[in-house]
Amino acid sequence: MDTIFDKIIRKEIPAEILYEDDRVIAFLDIFPVNPGHTLFVPKESCENILCTSDEALVHLFSVAKKLAPAILQSVGATDFNFNTNNGPIAGQVIMHTHFHLIPRFENDGHAMWGHQNATSEELAELGKRIRLSVDEMRASK
Ligand code: AMP
Repeated sequence: MDTIFDKIIRKEIPAEILYEDDRVIAFLDIFPVNPGHTLFVPKESCENILCTSDEALVHLFSVAKKLAPAILQSVGATDFNFNTNNGPIAGQVIMHTHFHLIPRFENDGHAMWGHQNATSEELAELGKRIRLSVDEMRASK
């Protein structure tokens, strides 16, 4: 799917680009959650992290780790979230793999995840199901 991020990569539409090499591009989010909100986008075109190559993801993380201190310093932050939304239910709007680096500030008004209670029995049952599924997946490869 050709997305707005593909157009940014091809320089068909403008973006405030902070870094670019042959495999990844980083630019400021046009609707920032906080100042310095940066998107890290693999140039390889794929919908979400499950179809993005390991190589592209490793490189993206390496670049993000190098850029993060400079971004944070520029906006006077020390803490940040680094996340990816995969699929519309998880909040993904642009269907091209990307990671958000969001600088965080004391009392910036952005809520963190809500948590639920789970009993040890529920965790054990779910853990068993997932391990089984992982084993089946590994056996089928
Ligand atoms: P997601 O909800 O994870 O798909 O995030 C998509 C992000 O892309 C949102 O935070 C948008 O604000 C951002 N966005 C959309 N269009 C542009 C654009 N042209 N340039 C920069 N960021 C954009």
